[in-house]
Amino acid sequence: MKLTVWTYEGPPHVGAMRVATAMKGLHYVLHAPQGDTYADLLFTMIERRDHRPPVTYTTFQARDLGADTAGLFRTACQDAYDRFKPEAIIVGASCTAELIQDDPGGLAETMGLPVPVIALELPSYQRKEGFGADETFYQIVRALAGPMERSERVTCNILGGTALGFRHRDDIAEITNLLYELGIEVNVCAPLGATPTDITKMGRAHFNVLLYPETGEAAARHLETTCGQPYTRVVPIGTGATRAFIEEVRTLSGSTAPIDDQGLRQTWWTRSVDSIYLTGKRVFIFGDATHAMAMAKVARDEMGFEVAGLGCYNREFARPMRALAKEFELEPLITDDYLEVERAIEAAQPEMIMGTQMERHIGKRLGIPCAVISSPVHVQDFPARYSPVMGFEGANVLFDTLVHPLVMGLEEHLLHMFREDFEFNDAAGPSHHGGHAPKPVEKAPAPAAEPETAPAGEVVWLHDAERELKKIPFFVRGKARRNTETFAMGQGITEISVDTLYEAKAHYAR
Ligand code: SF4
Repeated sequence: MKLTVWTYEGPPHVGAMRVATAMKGLHYVLHAPQGDTYADLLFTMIERRDHRPPVTYTTFQARDLGADTAGLFRTACQDAYDRFKPEAIIVGASCTAELIQDDPGGLAETMGLPVPVIALELPSYQRKEGFGADETFYQIVRALAGPMERSERVTCNILGGTALGFRHRDDIAEITNLLYELGIEVNVCAPLGATPTDITKMGRAHFNVLLYPETGEAAARHLETTCGQPYTRVVPIGTGATRAFIEEVRTLSGSTAPIDDQGLRQTWWTRSVDSIYLTGKRVFIFGDATHAMAMAKVARDEMGFEVAGLGCYNREFARPMRALAKEFELEPLITDDYLEVERAIEAAQPEMIMGTQMERHIGKRLGIPCAVISSPVHVQDFPARYSPVMGFEGANVLFDTLVHPLVMGLEEHLLHMFREDFEFNDAAGPSHHGGHAPKPVEKAPAPAAEPETAPAGEVVWLHDAERELKKIPFFVRGKARRNTETFAMGQGITEISVDTLYEAKAHYAR
């Protein structure tokens, strides 16, 4: 048992739903208790789809458990086929149904339905949503795709886009355009937008573009083995990665077509003088491994940030995450426990967090701005406007996303110089955060008597030192406080004076 308030990922059958909902002409019969239909809301509300997911639930209740739950499953399966007439059906169990062991796959196979029935084995107590999506897509490809004659023109498949994916809709549009410029047509984009019939034609493509390893890698590997299709390894997030991706695609396709990067503004925006104050900003990055790893490179190489923390919640990608963190000389944080993430952020004292909606909440509590770069996300990260994060337009979008939460250069200056101002003071926070009126500036309390001794293992701040600390802008004050305390403890000092503060500053500046 594990006490959990927030989870980064849902159970694996939600991953299977993401694949089913992404596709057309496919139906999912899910053996699940009454109430599991809550998952429909993820698609109809968060992603704002205008139709119900293609999922039939058996919705058994307590009184059914003494009777024939297997019969209930068979009836649901037959009804789903009769009503929706899909090209193929996937069947599986949710966590509760897994316990009653009705074997939906075996049951459906004996029914003699006139369409392919693909059984899913998703271990709900060991694995999560990302695995569920990857495994489901793999099983569909394994069942339906096979070697074929290659298309006459150079084509590729795009793999991994799903329903409820972070910016999948626009990433795929952006990359499809990029491939088109390179003279490469998309054979099948799957699962997003594909039908089971499309899946049967995947073997025609010359190679595969794997955009989301979390949800498409198993299928990509399978197609490499069975259809001899190589697949791309670079995920085109950021300008550098997009250029590397183009090179990779050129190697795989032989294309020499030039690329028009006129629309790429991010490189000039980051070089323009207004971006100087971004240099060295300390950022903490956490999310799914693919986005977190790509954003670490964008942060360091394209924005000039200092990456102060890096991690992911999906253990399946622990190995590449560790390798990258090593390159950044960081200890990676691989956990799905948000409390651990919160502790790590508190310890690193970054000036900005790049994370998921969970990190947004953490940032709010700690008073640290946050830019959202990965699932899980709230409804506002399924925006109406075109907002890819991949390709050149994606780089533009990311620049804006990363700059918005930060205090602008001029304001940073004002906050530093006019600390007592009624408008630009620390308590009022950055002007673009929230619409509250400035809090009244409290009168300084009368200095109390200096504490005499500190409890063992703790250091106390003398009032002068505390006042001096307040001169440091609020977004770096936490780090200055922590560094000074660590320095003091290292020196065996129990009371921090103004001198200690400056000694610590000099010590860390070395
Ligand atoms: S079956 Fe699983 S997903 Fe459904 S309510 Fe129970 S624990 Fe939640």
